[in-house]
Amino acid sequence: MIRISILTLCPEEFASFLKTPLIERNVASGILRIEIVDIRDCAPGSFRKIDDSPYGGGAGTILRVQPVEDALKAVCDRNSHIVITSPAGKPFKQKDAGRLAKMQHVVLLCGHYEGYDARIYEYGDEMLSIGDYVLSGGELPAVVIIQALMRLVDGSMKKESVMEESFEEGLLEYPQYTKPSDYKGKKVPEILLSGNHEAIREWRRKEALKQTETYRPDLLKKKEIDPALKNYIDENILPQYKDYEESHGLSHIKTVIENSLELCKDLEADIDMVYTVAAYHDIGLRYGREDHETHSGRWLQEDKKLRNWFTEEEIRTMKEAVEDHRASRKERPRSIYGCIVAEADRDVDPKRVICRCVQYETAHYPEADEGEILEKIIGHIKEKYGENGYLKLWLPCRKNREGLAVLRKWIITGEIVEICKEELQKQRKSS
Ligand code: SAH
Repeated sequence: MIRISILTLCPEEFASFLKTPLIERNVASGILRIEIVDIRDCAPGSFRKIDDSPYGGGAGTILRVQPVEDALKAVCDRNSHIVITSPAGKPFKQKDAGRLAKMQHVVLLCGHYEGYDARIYEYGDEMLSIGDYVLSGGELPAVVIIQALMRLVDGSMKKESVMEESFEEGLLEYPQYTKPSDYKGKKVPEILLSGNHEAIREWRRKEALKQTETYRPDLLKKKEIDPALKNYIDENILPQYKDYEESHGLSHIKTVIENSLELCKDLEADIDMVYTVAAYHDIGLRYGREDHETHSGRWLQEDKKLRNWFTEEEIRTMKEAVEDHRASRKERPRSIYGCIVAEADRDVDPKRVICRCVQYETAHYPEADEGEILEKIIGHIKEKYGENGYLKLWLPCRKNREGLAVLRKWIITGEIVEICKEELQKQRKSS
């Protein structure tokens, strides 16, 4: 059972869509609950003003934050997954449809006019685009997303028909035929009439590959790191981290690499560049913590060997990405590679944040008593993770955002004091 809420300014555009068999059948059988929410109902006053002109001038009008926030509040609970439709979103793929199909509640926000007030994006769990063109509203994108995901909701379609479709296993579908077997001399391939299921499966697989090579060679693009590059980095770069302090040692780098590769799966980013940036991002710590990102960037740029795999421009992009990874940086990183490594580097697991912070402060102020240390720890956590803290998340990565929400709650309720105190006492006891 999946619940879908569509937030729109044009509810009437969904009238015929709601009557299609895909929707009616699944609503009737209890697999789907779908609701259309008119954002206008959340706008105040008799004019119901939902848009306004952009600050700084420019064409058109922009959707205001307040009606959207109120509409979201009215439909969401903690199981809701909010998707913002936008040409700036991640390209919507079959595997996103599969991912969304497994959720309990998907909320689709449809924009209109010139788009959204930028602050609206903060409410989304992700942003999806259905292609590189600009439509006048998010209603068709919402329909596209729902049609794709409903086919994959358990119980909605026969398993076999879904399993062999295009994009499953990254290939297009093989050619299909129906009666007659001979149409004006154009014959159906012999093998399909043979009844030999094993041979038919084999033939279909080969044909699927052929179709993909012909029509969508980009789908066969490599998704693995160049083995020679990986080998060079694993043998020459990663071992450098062995003598770095615990919190930025090899295990930290391995975590950042792993997180980066995970984020890269859903983005249009070059996997070799992602791996390289993650591997080099902290290497400048050899020259101390201050400015380590600049040293890391220089190290990467001066590494002659990397020219075996990358152009000068790619190297510049990677150097900038490494420079942009620090949490204290206020501006958005200059490329997707900077965003990936920055996000992968933020381990906002609340318990680990506190553990790291306690370790850091006690090591730096060995003389301080419990009260003083606690004050420093909590001060740092508020400054970095608090409501207006300097930590910024650049990609919508749910794990980090949830961790941040927990920390903020602890700060607001004051629970943070007890939690830090417990951790401090635990660490003191064990040392
Ligand atoms: N000025 C914006 C475009 C706004 S189009 C820009 O240049 O990015 C208005 C709305 O239509 C968007 O808010 C979005 O909801 C929807 N939309 C337009 N094109 C889309 C696409 N390719 N994928 C998903 N949504 C799209």
